[in-house]
Amino acid sequence: MIAAVLHEPKKILLEEWEAPEPGPGQVLVRVRAGGICGSDLSYYFKGKSGDFAMRDPFVLGHELAGEVAAVGTDVAAFPVGQRVAVNPGLNCGTCRFCVRGMTNHCLHMRFLGSASVYPHSQGAFREYVAVAESQCVAIPHDFDFATASMAEPLAVTLHALRHAPTLLGARVLVVGCGPIGCLLVAAARRAGAHHLTAIDLAQPALDKAMEMRADTAVSATDTAQIDAWQQHRGTFDVVIEASGSPAGLDTALRTAIAGGTVLQVGNMPSGQSPVAMNLIMSKELRLLGSFRFGAEYATAVEEIVSGKLDLRPLMSHTFPLAEANKAFAIAQDRSQSMKVHLQFD
Ligand code: ZN
Repeated sequence: MIAAVLHEPKKILLEEWEAPEPGPGQVLVRVRAGGICGSDLSYYFKGKSGDFAMRDPFVLGHELAGEVAAVGTDVAAFPVGQRVAVNPGLNCGTCRFCVRGMTNHCLHMRFLGSASVYPHSQGAFREYVAVAESQCVAIPHDFDFATASMAEPLAVTLHALRHAPTLLGARVLVVGCGPIGCLLVAAARRAGAHHLTAIDLAQPALDKAMEMRADTAVSATDTAQIDAWQQHRGTFDVVIEASGSPAGLDTALRTAIAGGTVLQVGNMPSGQSPVAMNLIMSKELRLLGSFRFGAEYATAVEEIVSGKLDLRPLMSHTFPLAEANKAFAIAQDRSQSMKVHLQFD
Protein backbone atom coordinates (compact mmCIF):
# COMPACT_ATOMS: atom_id res chain seq x y z
CA MET A 1 0.00 0.00 0.00
CA ILE A 2 0.98 3.65 -0.35
CA ALA A 3 1.55 5.66 2.83
CA ALA A 4 2.07 9.44 3.02
CA VAL A 5 4.91 9.74 5.52
CA LEU A 6 5.92 13.05 7.13
CA HIS A 7 9.72 13.01 7.39
CA GLU A 8 10.39 16.58 8.41
CA PRO A 9 8.44 19.82 8.31
CA LYS A 10 6.92 20.41 4.86
CA LYS A 11 8.15 17.07 3.54
CA ILE A 12 5.72 14.21 3.02
CA LEU A 13 7.06 11.32 0.95
CA LEU A 14 4.93 8.57 -0.53
CA GLU A 15 6.28 5.20 0.52
CA GLU A 16 5.36 1.63 -0.23
CA TRP A 17 4.39 -0.06 3.03
CA GLU A 18 3.09 -3.51 3.73
CA ALA A 19 -0.65 -3.39 4.38
CA PRO A 20 -1.57 -4.38 7.95
CA GLU A 21 -3.33 -7.65 8.71
CA PRO A 22 -6.50 -7.34 10.79
CA GLY A 23 -6.04 -9.10 14.12
CA PRO A 24 -8.81 -10.61 16.25
CA GLY A 25 -11.61 -8.10 16.67
CA GLN A 26 -10.05 -5.81 14.09
CA VAL A 27 -11.33 -4.42 10.82
CA LEU A 28 -9.05 -3.60 7.91
CA VAL A 29 -10.36 -0.34 6.46
CA ARG A 30 -9.51 0.76 2.97
CA VAL A 31 -9.24 4.51 3.53
CA ARG A 32 -11.17 6.51 0.94
CA ALA A 33 -11.05 10.05 2.36
CA GLY A 34 -9.10 11.82 5.06
CA GLY A 35 -9.50 15.37 6.34
CA ILE A 36 -6.54 17.58 7.24
CA CYS A 37 -6.91 18.88 10.81
CA GLY A 38 -5.27 21.85 12.48
CA SER A 39 -3.08 19.46 14.47
CA ASP A 40 -1.96 17.76 11.22
CA LEU A 41 -1.04 21.21 9.91
CA SER A 42 0.91 21.95 13.06
CA TYR A 43 2.91 18.72 12.78
CA TYR A 44 3.45 19.33 9.07
CA PHE A 45 4.72 22.89 9.37
CA LYS A 46 6.30 22.89 12.85
CA GLY A 47 6.99 19.23 13.67
CA LYS A 48 4.81 19.47 16.77
CA SER A 49 1.23 19.96 17.87
CA GLY A 50 0.57 21.60 21.23
CA ASP A 51 2.78 19.71 23.66
CA PHE A 52 3.36 16.73 21.33
CA ALA A 53 6.60 16.81 19.30
CA MET A 54 7.42 14.52 16.39
CA ARG A 55 10.57 12.43 16.99
CA ASP A 56 10.41 9.97 14.06
CA PRO A 57 8.84 10.10 10.60
CA PHE A 58 5.19 9.16 10.82
CA VAL A 59 1.87 9.18 9.01
CA LEU A 60 -0.59 11.95 9.87
CA GLY A 61 -4.36 11.82 9.65
CA HIS A 62 -7.19 11.02 12.04
CA GLU A 63 -10.34 12.17 10.22
CA LEU A 64 -11.28 9.28 7.99
CA ALA A 65 -13.89 7.20 6.31
CA GLY A 66 -13.52 4.21 4.05
CA GLU A 67 -14.77 0.73 3.38
CA VAL A 68 -14.19 -2.59 5.07
CA ALA A 69 -11.59 -4.55 3.09
CA ALA A 70 -11.19 -7.52 5.43
CA VAL A 71 -12.04 -8.52 8.98
CA GLY A 72 -10.19 -10.47 11.64
CA THR A 73 -11.70 -13.25 13.69
CA ASP A 74 -14.59 -12.38 16.01
CA VAL A 75 -15.87 -9.51 13.86
CA ALA A 76 -19.52 -10.02 13.01
CA ALA A 77 -21.02 -6.60 12.44
CA PHE A 78 -19.11 -5.38 9.42
CA PRO A 79 -19.25 -7.25 6.10
CA VAL A 80 -16.55 -6.63 3.51
CA GLY A 81 -17.54 -3.61 1.44
CA GLN A 82 -19.42 -1.86 4.25
CA ARG A 83 -18.73 1.87 4.29
CA VAL A 84 -17.62 3.15 7.68
CA ALA A 85 -16.56 6.31 9.46
CA VAL A 86 -13.71 5.55 11.83
CA ASN A 87 -13.30 6.95 15.33
CA PRO A 88 -9.54 7.58 15.47
CA GLY A 89 -9.30 6.98 19.22
CA LEU A 90 -9.10 3.54 20.82
CA ASN A 91 -9.30 3.67 24.60
CA CYS A 92 -8.31 0.80 26.88
CA GLY A 93 -11.58 0.48 28.78
CA THR A 94 -9.90 -0.35 32.08
CA CYS A 95 -7.77 2.59 33.25
CA ARG A 96 -8.97 4.98 35.97
CA PHE A 97 -10.37 7.43 33.41
CA CYS A 98 -12.04 4.83 31.21
CA VAL A 99 -13.89 3.34 34.18
CA ARG A 100 -15.18 6.84 35.00
CA GLY A 101 -16.45 7.31 31.46
CA MET A 102 -13.74 9.88 30.66
CA THR A 103 -12.48 7.84 27.74
CA ASN A 104 -10.85 10.84 26.02
CA HIS A 105 -8.38 10.93 28.92
CA CYS A 106 -7.53 7.24 28.68
CA LEU A 107 -4.01 6.63 29.95
CA HIS A 108 -3.40 4.11 27.16
CA MET A 109 -5.18 5.93 24.33
CA ARG A 110 -4.19 4.87 20.84
CA PHE A 111 -5.08 7.82 18.63
CA LEU A 112 -4.39 7.60 14.91
CA GLY A 113 -1.70 9.97 13.64
CA SER A 114 -0.46 11.30 16.97
CA ALA A 115 3.01 11.93 18.37
CA SER A 116 1.59 11.92 21.91
CA VAL A 117 3.04 8.42 22.30
CA TYR A 118 6.38 6.91 21.32
CA PRO A 119 6.75 5.05 19.04
CA HIS A 120 4.27 7.39 17.37
CA SER A 121 0.81 6.19 16.47
CA GLN A 122 0.60 5.95 12.66
CA GLY A 123 -2.28 7.85 11.10
CA ALA A 124 -4.79 7.43 8.32
CA PHE A 125 -3.10 9.06 5.33
CA ARG A 126 -2.35 5.64 3.88
CA GLU A 127 -4.39 3.20 1.86
CA TYR A 128 -5.21 0.75 4.66
CA VAL A 129 -5.54 0.94 8.43
CA ALA A 130 -6.41 -1.85 10.86
CA VAL A 131 -8.67 -0.62 13.65
CA ALA A 132 -10.83 -2.17 16.35
CA GLU A 133 -14.37 -3.06 15.33
CA SER A 134 -15.56 -0.69 18.07
CA GLN A 135 -13.95 2.24 16.25
CA CYS A 136 -16.11 1.78 13.15
CA VAL A 137 -19.52 3.35 12.61
CA ALA A 138 -21.48 2.15 9.57
CA ILE A 139 -22.60 4.76 7.03
CA PRO A 140 -25.00 4.30 4.10
CA HIS A 141 -23.63 2.45 1.08
CA ASP A 142 -23.86 5.52 -1.17
CA PHE A 143 -22.70 8.12 1.37
CA ASP A 144 -19.77 10.37 0.48
CA PHE A 145 -16.57 9.40 2.30
CA ALA A 146 -15.17 12.91 2.76
CA THR A 147 -18.46 14.16 4.22
CA ALA A 148 -18.53 11.21 6.61
CA SER A 149 -14.98 11.95 7.74
CA MET A 150 -16.27 15.30 9.06
CA ALA A 151 -17.70 13.31 11.98
CA GLU A 152 -14.37 13.59 13.78
CA PRO A 153 -14.14 17.39 13.99
CA LEU A 154 -17.90 17.52 14.60
CA ALA A 155 -17.45 15.14 17.54
CA VAL A 156 -14.87 17.54 18.98
CA THR A 157 -17.45 20.30 18.95
CA LEU A 158 -20.27 18.14 20.36
CA HIS A 159 -17.98 17.10 23.21
CA ALA A 160 -17.05 20.73 23.82
CA LEU A 161 -20.67 21.84 24.04
CA ARG A 162 -21.38 19.15 26.64
CA HIS A 163 -19.02 21.09 28.91
CA ALA A 164 -20.78 24.40 28.29
CA PRO A 165 -23.76 25.58 30.32
CA THR A 166 -27.02 25.55 28.38
CA LEU A 167 -26.92 27.75 25.32
CA LEU A 168 -30.68 28.25 25.31
CA GLY A 169 -31.25 31.99 25.35
CA ALA A 170 -27.52 32.67 25.63
CA ARG A 171 -25.43 35.26 23.89
CA VAL A 172 -22.58 33.23 22.43
CA LEU A 173 -19.30 34.31 20.87
CA VAL A 174 -17.13 31.90 18.87
CA VAL A 175 -13.54 33.12 18.56
CA GLY A 176 -11.87 31.71 15.46
CA CYS A 177 -13.76 30.46 12.41
CA GLY A 178 -11.61 27.68 11.03
CA PRO A 179 -13.29 24.32 10.51
CA ILE A 180 -13.70 23.70 14.25
CA GLY A 181 -14.99 27.23 14.89
CA CYS A 182 -17.49 26.94 12.04
CA LEU A 183 -18.61 23.53 13.31
CA LEU A 184 -19.04 25.07 16.76
CA VAL A 185 -21.23 27.76 15.20
CA ALA A 186 -23.39 25.07 13.56
CA ALA A 187 -23.56 22.98 16.73
CA ALA A 188 -24.23 25.99 18.97
CA ARG A 189 -27.08 27.03 16.70
CA ARG A 190 -28.58 23.55 16.95
CA ALA A 191 -28.09 23.72 20.72
CA GLY A 192 -30.32 26.78 20.94
CA ALA A 193 -27.97 29.75 21.13
CA HIS A 194 -30.06 32.92 21.19
CA HIS A 195 -27.57 35.27 19.58
CA LEU A 196 -24.49 33.85 17.96
CA THR A 197 -21.51 35.99 17.03
CA ALA A 198 -18.32 34.81 15.34
CA ILE A 199 -15.00 36.59 14.97
CA ASP A 200 -11.92 35.84 12.91
CA LEU A 201 -9.17 37.75 11.12
CA ALA A 202 -10.00 36.29 7.70
CA GLN A 203 -13.06 37.42 5.75
CA PRO A 204 -13.58 34.06 3.96
CA ALA A 205 -13.77 32.37 7.37
CA LEU A 206 -16.34 34.93 8.53
CA ASP A 207 -18.40 34.24 5.40
CA LYS A 208 -18.37 30.52 6.21
CA ALA A 209 -19.45 31.22 9.79
CA MET A 210 -22.46 33.09 8.39
CA GLU A 211 -23.23 30.14 6.12
CA MET A 212 -23.23 27.95 9.24
CA ARG A 213 -25.88 30.33 10.67
CA ALA A 214 -24.03 32.75 12.87
CA ASP A 215 -26.15 35.88 13.45
CA THR A 216 -23.19 38.20 13.15
CA ALA A 217 -19.63 37.80 11.93
CA VAL A 218 -17.16 40.48 12.97
CA SER A 219 -13.56 40.98 11.95
CA ALA A 220 -11.08 40.46 14.78
CA THR A 221 -9.43 43.66 13.50
CA ASP A 222 -12.53 45.65 14.54
CA THR A 223 -11.01 46.79 17.83
CA ALA A 224 -13.76 49.36 18.41
CA GLN A 225 -16.36 46.58 18.43
CA ILE A 226 -14.27 44.31 20.63
CA ASP A 227 -13.64 47.20 23.02
CA ALA A 228 -17.39 47.83 23.19
CA TRP A 229 -18.02 44.17 24.09
CA GLN A 230 -15.63 44.55 27.02
CA GLN A 231 -17.49 47.49 28.54
CA HIS A 232 -19.69 47.19 31.63
CA ARG A 233 -18.19 43.86 32.67
CA GLY A 234 -18.50 42.10 29.35
CA THR A 235 -21.15 40.93 26.90
CA PHE A 236 -21.27 37.19 26.13
CA ASP A 237 -22.71 34.51 28.39
CA VAL A 238 -20.56 31.86 26.73
CA VAL A 239 -17.38 32.49 24.75
CA ILE A 240 -15.95 29.52 22.87
CA GLU A 241 -12.26 29.91 22.02
CA ALA A 242 -11.50 28.01 18.83
CA SER A 243 -8.55 29.92 17.43
CA GLY A 244 -5.90 28.24 19.53
CA SER A 245 -4.09 31.56 19.89
CA PRO A 246 -3.23 33.51 23.05
CA ALA A 247 -4.79 36.57 21.42
CA GLY A 248 -8.01 34.63 20.94
CA LEU A 249 -8.13 33.57 24.58
CA ASP A 250 -7.38 37.12 25.64
CA THR A 251 -10.35 38.34 23.60
CA ALA A 252 -12.50 35.60 25.10
CA LEU A 253 -11.65 36.56 28.68
CA ARG A 254 -12.21 40.24 27.98
CA THR A 255 -15.56 39.91 26.18
CA ALA A 256 -17.20 37.29 28.44
CA ILE A 257 -19.82 38.78 30.74
CA ALA A 258 -19.24 38.65 34.51
CA GLY A 259 -20.35 35.24 35.71
CA GLY A 260 -20.04 33.88 32.19
CA THR A 261 -18.17 30.92 30.79
CA VAL A 262 -15.11 30.70 28.57
CA LEU A 263 -14.72 27.35 26.88
CA GLN A 264 -11.25 26.60 25.52
CA VAL A 265 -11.39 24.31 22.48
CA GLY A 266 -8.49 25.65 20.40
CA ASN A 267 -5.15 23.88 20.76
CA MET A 268 -2.72 26.46 22.16
CA PRO A 269 1.00 26.53 21.40
CA SER A 270 3.01 24.84 24.12
CA GLY A 271 4.52 26.98 26.87
CA GLN A 272 3.31 30.08 28.66
CA SER A 273 0.77 32.49 27.22
CA PRO A 274 0.39 36.05 28.46
CA VAL A 275 -3.35 36.72 28.53
CA ALA A 276 -5.71 38.66 30.79
CA MET A 277 -5.87 35.84 33.37
CA ASN A 278 -6.84 38.13 36.23
CA LEU A 279 -10.25 38.56 34.63
CA ILE A 280 -11.01 34.95 35.54
CA MET A 281 -10.88 36.07 39.16
CA SER A 282 -12.34 39.57 38.93
CA LYS A 283 -15.27 38.61 36.67
CA GLU A 284 -15.80 35.24 38.40
CA LEU A 285 -15.51 33.55 35.04
CA ARG A 286 -15.76 29.86 34.52
CA LEU A 287 -12.84 28.80 32.36
CA LEU A 288 -13.36 25.31 30.99
CA GLY A 289 -11.35 23.14 28.66
CA SER A 290 -12.41 20.46 26.21
CA PHE A 291 -10.19 17.75 24.71
CA ARG A 292 -11.10 15.38 21.86
CA PHE A 293 -14.34 13.41 22.48
CA GLY A 294 -15.77 10.06 23.49
CA ALA A 295 -19.20 8.66 22.70
CA GLU A 296 -20.01 11.82 20.73
CA TYR A 297 -18.35 10.27 17.67
CA ALA A 298 -21.31 8.05 16.85
CA THR A 299 -23.68 10.97 17.45
CA ALA A 300 -21.65 13.07 15.03
CA VAL A 301 -21.91 10.41 12.33
CA GLU A 302 -25.68 10.31 12.85
CA GLU A 303 -25.97 14.10 12.67
CA ILE A 304 -24.16 14.04 9.33
CA VAL A 305 -25.68 11.01 7.57
CA SER A 306 -29.20 11.99 8.64
CA GLY A 307 -28.72 15.40 7.02
CA LYS A 308 -29.47 17.29 10.25
CA LEU A 309 -26.20 19.14 9.78
CA ASP A 310 -25.05 19.94 6.26
CA LEU A 311 -21.31 20.40 6.54
CA ARG A 312 -20.55 20.45 2.84
CA PRO A 313 -20.10 24.25 2.76
CA LEU A 314 -17.04 23.74 4.96
CA MET A 315 -15.40 21.27 2.57
CA SER A 316 -13.34 23.45 0.26
CA HIS A 317 -10.74 21.28 -1.50
CA THR A 318 -9.92 17.67 -2.33
CA PHE A 319 -6.53 16.40 -3.50
CA PRO A 320 -5.26 12.94 -4.38
CA LEU A 321 -2.87 11.41 -1.85
CA ALA A 322 -0.01 11.95 -4.31
CA GLU A 323 -0.48 15.71 -3.90
CA ALA A 324 -0.37 15.64 -0.11
CA ASN A 325 2.24 18.40 0.17
CA LYS A 326 0.17 20.69 -2.03
CA ALA A 327 -2.92 19.84 -0.01
CA PHE A 328 -1.19 20.89 3.21
CA ALA A 329 -0.02 24.16 1.66
CA ILE A 330 -3.57 24.98 0.56
CA ALA A 331 -5.02 23.92 3.91
CA GLN A 332 -2.67 26.34 5.67
CA ASP A 333 -3.78 29.23 3.45
CA ARG A 334 -6.90 30.48 5.18
CA SER A 335 -7.56 33.04 2.46
CA GLN A 336 -8.64 30.25 0.15
CA SER A 337 -9.39 27.06 2.06
CA MET A 338 -11.52 25.68 4.87
CA LYS A 339 -11.52 21.91 5.33
CA VAL A 340 -9.18 20.15 2.85
CA HIS A 341 -9.49 16.43 2.16
CA LEU A 342 -7.15 13.85 0.74
CA GLN A 343 -8.88 11.35 -1.47
CA PHE A 344 -7.80 7.80 -2.16
CA ASP A 345 -8.70 5.91 -5.32
ZN1 ZN B 1 -8.16 3.79 29.46
